[in-house]
Amino acid sequence: MKNQQKQWDVLVVGGGPAGMMAATRAADLGARVLLVEKNPKLGKKLLITGGGRCNVTNTKLDRQRFSEHFGDSSKFLFSSFSRFDAKDTLSFFHARNMPTKVETEGRVFPKSDQSQSVLDVLKASMRKSGVSTRCATTVEGLCVENERLVGIRVSGSKTPLLAKSIIIATGGTSRPDTGSTGEGFDWLASVGHTIVTPNLSLVPIRIEERWVRDLSGLSLKDISVSVFSDDKKHAEQFGKMIFTHFGVSGPAVLNVSGVAHNMHNDNKKTHIALDLFPNSDASSLDQALRDLFEKNQNKQVKNMLVDFVSPRLVSPLLELSLVNPDTPVHSLPREQRLTLIATMKHLPMSVSGFLGKDKAIVTRGGVPLSEVDCRFMQSRLHKNLYIIGDLLDIERPSGGYSLQLCWTTGWIAGTKAGEIN
Ligand SMILES: Cc1cc2nc3c(=O)[nH]c(=O)nc-3n(C[C@H](O)[C@H](O)[C@H](O)COP(=O)(O)OP(=O)(O)OC[C@H]3O[C@@H](n4cnc5c(N)ncnc54)[C@H](O)[C@@H]3O)c2cc1C
Repeated sequence: MKNQQKQWDVLVVGGGPAGMMAATRAADLGARVLLVEKNPKLGKKLLITGGGRCNVTNTKLDRQRFSEHFGDSSKFLFSSFSRFDAKDTLSFFHARNMPTKVETEGRVFPKSDQSQSVLDVLKASMRKSGVSTRCATTVEGLCVENERLVGIRVSGSKTPLLAKSIIIATGGTSRPDTGSTGEGFDWLASVGHTIVTPNLSLVPIRIEERWVRDLSGLSLKDISVSVFSDDKKHAEQFGKMIFTHFGVSGPAVLNVSGVAHNMHNDNKKTHIALDLFPNSDASSLDQALRDLFEKNQNKQVKNMLVDFVSPRLVSPLLELSLVNPDTPVHSLPREQRLTLIATMKHLPMSVSGFLGKDKAIVTRGGVPLSEVDCRFMQSRLHKNLYIIGDLLDIERPSGGYSLQLCWTTGWIAGTKAGEIN
């Protein structure tokens, strides 16, 4: 470079979880690190994660099997998780005085139930490691000289910021109000990377039927949600869900939403179906219902069912099964009882659409892992370029896996970029 500008060892673009982890790690190794964020404050999206409680990671599967959660990407990520996995995440936060607790399905949250605790740890770690931060600074692109990446351009300044290594952590395109507006994809494309078009992945589903929206606020656990089109089942997930004023959401729904979205986009008539008793087959359910009816022969079916399913579900279940709610259970025909059971095992809802990027948890798409050396999260096209967090095209379920990807990819990139000698 002709000018005598300061050259940083590492520039990190994006003050989300991935960027802050990468910056901390690189600075801990002695590198002079500058993190640049366009929002006035760091971690805007992080603060809304997990409903404000931040599901930091997931401990359901051990280190050997952790990468199995990441679909097509699991092979690529095996070595990444063997460097930094959920256990390392917990050690990182516990060592910095943030106790955690484990909830259903291995979901880990800060004991405080506050995302702010996670952000506080990251900010304090960066301060302690000596990371310089520049907020309210929008990065406009990458600077390349003689085919070598040398720095970044920032708004309002004619002179670029220069660095030996550049870590891009600008996130995907979900919830653009938090700052994740997808510019990083354009810069990476401008230096030769392929960008798989971002697509909605974990996103709430709009449902056509009125009765679904009338159940708004009702949450169910231990159910299964399946996606069907052309009478074929394409995906199934167990866990929790919630009815909303537009349709359905919650972890089990989000986890099948990507498949439902693809089907719907192919103009296939798509429906999802709930199994309210995924751990019982139809005949054992029938037996349980008969036992219940036998003890209460003169009661009306609508009053009996409240002992069997959530009271708010009774009316729609009876209506969909064409059973008169006032029928005394002793005179309920067998066929109607079996229809009722079939409905409980397959409660269908027609997909009418999806909430947009503004409400998605993550978007699928971004830089394919084949263009990144996952041992270092280093671009295969530019040795001093690192790509981390939601910028990567990685399929993952809900449950703390997205943030674990941020911790893992951030740590690994920071480790490599921070090796300054
Ligand atoms: C409502 C919601 C709830 C979620 N809950 C969970 C959860 O509980 N657990 C979980 O694992 N995952 C959760 N996620 C997903 C998780 O938040 C993301 O995977 C994660 O934030 C991605 O981190 P990142 O650092 O890659 O990017 P981001 O968090 O998106 O951060 C990118 C940063 O880059 C900055 N930036 C962008 N462009 C520029 C630019 N031009 N110049 C400078 N800075 C720029 C942005 O302002 C932003 O601060 C949730 C997501 C949402 C939307």
